[in-house]
Formats: sequence, C-alpha cells, structure tokens
Amino acid sequence: MGAGPAGGELARRLAQGGVAVELVDRLPDLREVAFSSAAVPLDTVARFALPAAVVASRWRGWRLIGPGDRRRDWQAPGPLGAVLDFGALRHWLAEECRRWGGEVRLGRTALHSHPDGDRMVTRLRRVGGAEETIVSHWVIDATGERRSLLGEGEPGTSHGRPDPLISGVGVEWLLQVPEASWRRWHDRLTFCLGSDWLPQGYGWVFPMQPGVLKIGICRYCDPHRPQPPLAPLLERLMERLLEPQELAQAQVLDRHGGRVRSRVHRREPHRIGRLVGLGDVVSTANLLGGEGIRHALTSSAVLAPLLLEALAGQAGEDPLDRYPRRLRRALGWRWALSGRVARRTWFGLRDEAGDRRLVRILDSLETCRAEDLSALLFDYRFERYGLRILPYLLGWR
Ligand SMILES: Cc1cc2nc3c(=O)[nH]c(=O)nc-3n(C[C@H](O)[C@H](O)[C@H](O)COP(=O)(O)OP(=O)(O)OC[C@H]3O[C@@H](n4cnc5c(N)ncnc54)[C@H](O)[C@@H]3O)c2cc1C
Repeated sequence: MGAGPAGGELARRLAQGGVAVELVDRLPDLREVAFSSAAVPLDTVARFALPAAVVASRWRGWRLIGPGDRRRDWQAPGPLGAVLDFGALRHWLAEECRRWGGEVRLGRTALHSHPDGDRMVTRLRRVGGAEETIVSHWVIDATGERRSLLGEGEPGTSHGRPDPLISGVGVEWLLQVPEASWRRWHDRLTFCLGSDWLPQGYGWVFPMQPGVLKIGICRYCDPHRPQPPLAPLLERLMERLLEPQELAQAQVLDRHGGRVRSRVHRREPHRIGRLVGLGDVVSTANLLGGEGIRHALTSSAVLAPLLLEALAGQAGEDPLDRYPRRLRRALGWRWALSGRVARRTWFGLRDEAGDRRLVRILDSLETCRAEDLSALLFDYRFERYGLRILPYLLGWR
C-alpha cells in the first residue's frame, strides 16, 4: 500500500522474485503531486540503477546562503549528486513492477487491513467512492509519513527518554525561468539558512532540467512557538533570491508541499503480524536534510529478501523478526546521531544566538571541499570533517 520510493521499489523487487504483487496508491497518476524535492547523492543513482529518465539534473557543488546575505560556495570537479524527477521515479518503479508481472492499482486509498486466518484482508476506496478488498498473505504499509495502516504507534521511548515523532512541513514551487537565470543556480544545491530566512527550517533552490528550478522551504514544527503560514515566507524568499525582472518572467509550473515525519531513535513497531511498515512509515526519513528517498529504497532492499524467505515458507524462525535489526544496521549508527544533530540544529535556529552558532559551524566548514560537505550531509561523517564542529552540533558548546 503506497507507491512511493519504498513501496514501488519493494514491489519491483518482489515481482522480479516471482511473487504475485499488487501495488496500490491513492494517486490516480504517480507523475502528479511530486511533493519531494528529491535531491540525492550520486551513489543512490548507481546503487538502485535509476535510469536517466528519472534524473532531472546533476549537481556538483553546494551554496549556503545565510545567516543574512553571506554566501559560501563549494564546487567539485565532477558530479556529486542528482535531483530526481520524483513523479517520474514513482511512475518508473510502478512500470517496472508491471513489467515483471505485478499488478498496479491506482486511485485507491487503503482504509483498513485486518487478519483473517493466515491471510490479510484490506479494504480500499476507489476515487469515485466504491469500495473493494484485496486478500493477501502480507500487507506492506508504505504509505509514507501518513502511516495509514500501521498508525503512529505508542509515543515511543529510547533508553527511557521520549522519542516523539518530529514533523517538518515543506512547500515548493516549480518555476520555469529564463535560461540565464537558471544558469545562476544550475549545477549546485543552494540552501538558505538562518532565522532571517526561515526560523527553525531552511529554504532551497534546486536545479531541474534546463530552465526549471525548484524553490522551497521546510520548517520543523515546534508546538511551543507560533508557526506562521509558509506560503508568504516562500514568496519572501523568492523575492530575496531572484531579481524583480526574473520573478516577473518566471512561470509557476507546479506548487506542491508535504510533510516529513520521523523519530530520531526509530523504536516504533515495524510490524503487527502480517502487516509490515516500510520507508517513512518506520521513520527512515532523515531529519538533517529532510531527505528520505534513498533510505526508503534501502528499507525495500532490506525487506525484500526477508519477505521472499517468509513466502518460501520454511518452518522455524520467522525471517521478518530480523527486519528491524537489519534495517537499523543498514541505516547505520550515524543515522541516529544525525537525527540528534538535526533536532538541535533546526529547533535552535530561531534567534540571534542560534544564528551565531550556525556561523561558527559554517566558518569551520569553509576550508573543506565540496566532497567533504557531501560526506558530512549525506554520509553523516561528522567525525571525519566535523570533529571540531560536533560539540557545536550537539550543543555541548
Ligand atoms: C517538501 C519535501 C521535500 C523533500 N525533499 C527531499 C529531498 O530533497 N531528498 C530526499 O531524499 N527526500 C526528500 N523528502 C523526503 C522524501 O520525499 C520521503 O522521505 C520519501 O518520499 C519517502 O518515501 P516513502 O515511499 O516511504 O513514502 P512516500 O514517498 O510518502 O510515498 C507514500 C505513498 O503512499 C501513498 N498513500 C498514502 N496514503 C495512502 C493510502 N491510505 N492508500 C494508498 N496510498 C496511500 C501516497 O500517495 C504516496 O505515493 C522531502 C519531503 C518533503 C515533504
């Protein structure tokens, strides 16, 4: 249930493994509502054999703007990553599932799933309102941060401390701009940081295909502080980044938004019987960069062989019992550390004191290479380049 990167990738792997798969999504067309900015490091493209059709652009540098108008640039000689066309990615995964004999049912919302003997019965509602059911051996909840079937579970604790679901809300516009404007942003990921850009969050400009930019903002939700609407903040960000003439010429191709929700320690239940959670449902989205596509794909790579084993039906140990541990190992210990850093960084970025801390971090990164910054932000290698910044990141200084 859910044909995002997690569900689509799992369906493709299982169909390839000869399993009868049905991939269900509430969207009638997976190319629509492409809410994710979809920046990934280059090895994700190779590791999951993503075709050129889902890659909108490649980038080889970073630009960090802020606090204020201070700009810092890092550029590598070759590509470091890609910006994916998120809609095309979902569509391609579903087509791959179909090509391997799987069935794809779109325009169906999964309402409820319950066990019936050794089968699961899942109720779906079609776009027009009619209901239908699917009977299956297993149901995979890959409905993203909504967690439509598995639910949010208990509030969660880790080592006796609360491990709440942390939410970030993002909005993004897809803009068609003159080629010359696009060139100013085209081969790098740009982030705007600091409380004057967006308290408790960040803005970005990502290049898509020539002439197209994604401009967005994401803010982490803090129940203790006012949360003004994001749309005016995004418009203000665009006014600061683009010349009035560029803005006047820009054509809005799409506006979308979404939510990222994860627990730092990921202790939530990964299954209830034959209902299993995948991707964002089990908090694989990383809060540091608000990014989860590759981690969602990883969760599918971990779950697929275990499910194939379970379906082969040998008596003895339940292969799915190994799933949470294997997934934790695949994400790595740095994943949880980066979540702590994210909580500290984003929630602290709300006033001048937060900005001053950010400046110290950015100053200490100035001498590193673009590749080092990628290792820090995508591989969470704080210890390699960031030992001197780790105390700031974790709030010890
Ligand atoms: C604004 C924003 C920007 C982001 N930018 C990046 C980025 O730059 N890089 C990155 O890696 N990640 C980014 N992410 C995060 C990333 O998009 C997610 O972590 C990733 O998509 C998770 O994949 P998933 O398959 O687990 O869930 P999703 O991609 O959310 O897929 C879930 C699917 O389930 C479907 N669904 C939901 N409920 C039901 C239901 N009841 N019945 C049937 N279908 C249902 C949905 O339509 C959807 O297709 C961003 C997220 C947001 C919100």
